[in-house]
Amino acid sequence: MNCYPEYGPTPRRKSRAVRVGEVVVGGGAPIVVQSMTNTDTADVAATVQQVAELARAGSEIVRVTVNNNEAAAAVPHIRERLEAMDIRVPLVGDFHFNGHRLLARHPECAEALAKLRINPGNVGRGSKRDEQFASMIEFACRYDKPVRIGVNWGSLDPELLARMMDENARLPEPQDAAVVTRRALVASALDSAAQAGQLGLASDRIVLSCKVSGVQDLIAVYRELAARCDHALHLGLTEAGMGSKGIVASAAALAVLLQEGIGDTIRASLTPEPGGERTREVIVAQEILQSMGLRSFAPMVIACPGCGRTTSTYFQELADRIQRYLRAQMPLWRREYPGVEEMHVAVMGCVVNGPGESKHANVGISLPGSGENPVAPVYVDGVKTVTLKGENIASEFQGIVERYVIENYSKQPAASPAPRAARDAEHA
Ligand code: SF4
Repeated sequence: MNCYPEYGPTPRRKSRAVRVGEVVVGGGAPIVVQSMTNTDTADVAATVQQVAELARAGSEIVRVTVNNNEAAAAVPHIRERLEAMDIRVPLVGDFHFNGHRLLARHPECAEALAKLRINPGNVGRGSKRDEQFASMIEFACRYDKPVRIGVNWGSLDPELLARMMDENARLPEPQDAAVVTRRALVASALDSAAQAGQLGLASDRIVLSCKVSGVQDLIAVYRELAARCDHALHLGLTEAGMGSKGIVASAAALAVLLQEGIGDTIRASLTPEPGGERTREVIVAQEILQSMGLRSFAPMVIACPGCGRTTSTYFQELADRIQRYLRAQMPLWRREYPGVEEMHVAVMGCVVNGPGESKHANVGISLPGSGENPVAPVYVDGVKTVTLKGENIASEFQGIVERYVIENYSKQPAASPAPRAARDAEHA
C-alpha cells in the first residue's frame, strides 16, 4: 500500500513552450534558471565578464538592463564578445520608459537580444502608454523575439490600479485594498498579453511574470495567474533581500508554487552582500530546484551540522572545500561527465551518523569526532574502501571523489565501470 499517495510535486501545469534563443521555456521543458547582471551595460568589458560568470555558474538565460543609448549600443558588442568566448547564453533586454525609442534607434540591439522584457507599468503614462507598448511589441514581431511581460508590484500601472480601486469602492461590500492590488497585478499581465496578441505577437512568444516582494502575496498572485492563462510563467520574489532573508524568502515562495506545478523559469532576486558574488543568485535558484528533486545541476554535498562531538572546524572546512571544488569543476564536468550532477557526496563529523550517511552517498567520509581514533573511513557506493589518516585527508578525499567521477561518468563507457544505477540494477 502506498502510504504517501501525494508524495512529490503536482504535475507541471501545461503551458505554451517559448523558445528563447536555444533555450525552451515552458511546454514541459525543464525549469530554466535565469539571472540578471548588475553592471552598467554600457561597460562592455564588465558586463561580458559578469554574463560569462553567471553562465559558467549555470544561468541559462541572462538579463541585462537597457536603459539608455549607450547601453543599447553596447548590447551587440557584448553578444559578439560572448560568442567569441563560446558563451551562447541568451541575453534578455530589460526595457522601461524609453524602450520604444532605444529599439528604434538601435535595431542591432534588438537583433542581438534573444528576448525583450517589457514592464507594462513602466512603458508610459496616459495615451502614450498604449502607443509605446504597441511600439515595443511591433519591434518584437519585426525581429521575431519573444517577450516577457513582467509586471512588478513596485511599478504597477497606476491608472489600472486607480480604476480597479474605484470599481471596488462602489461595490456593496468592497474587498480589502491588498486583494484589489493583487487582482490588478494579474489583470495588468493578462490584459497586456491580450493586447500583445492583438498586435500580432503569437502566444508562444509570450512569457508572463507578476513579481511581488511578499511570500504569501506571490503565491496568491501566481495561483491566480496560472489558473487564468496558459502562458509560460517566470517566477521570482522581487526584492527578496540580502543574505539568509533573501534566500529563505525566495525558497519559501518558489517552493510552494513549484510544488503545485507552477513555474517554467525562475530567478532568485538576491541583493548581493558588499563584495559578494552575483553568481550566488544562480546557485540559490539551482539549489531550490535541486533540493526539491526537480532538476540536478551539481553534485550534492550532504554534511551534518556538527555538534559537541566535533572538536574542531576541520569537517566544516572539508565540507566547504569539497562543495567549492565540485562547483568549480562543473563547467568542465557538465560537458565531459554527463550525469555527474546527480552524484551525492557525504562529509560527516563523527561515527554516530557518519558511516550510515556515507553508505547512502556515492562517496562519503566520516571524520573523527571527539574522543574517536584520528581516522576517517571512506565509503564508495556503500562499501568501505579505505581509512584515511594524517595531514592529507582533505586532498586524498578530493582525489577519491575525482576518480569516482572519471570512472563512473565518463562518456566512453567501455573504458570505465558501469554507472552506479546500472550496478545497482544488476545486484538488485
Ligand atoms: S554526525 Fe556526529 S558530529 Fe555530526 S551532528 Fe551527528 S553526532 Fe554530531
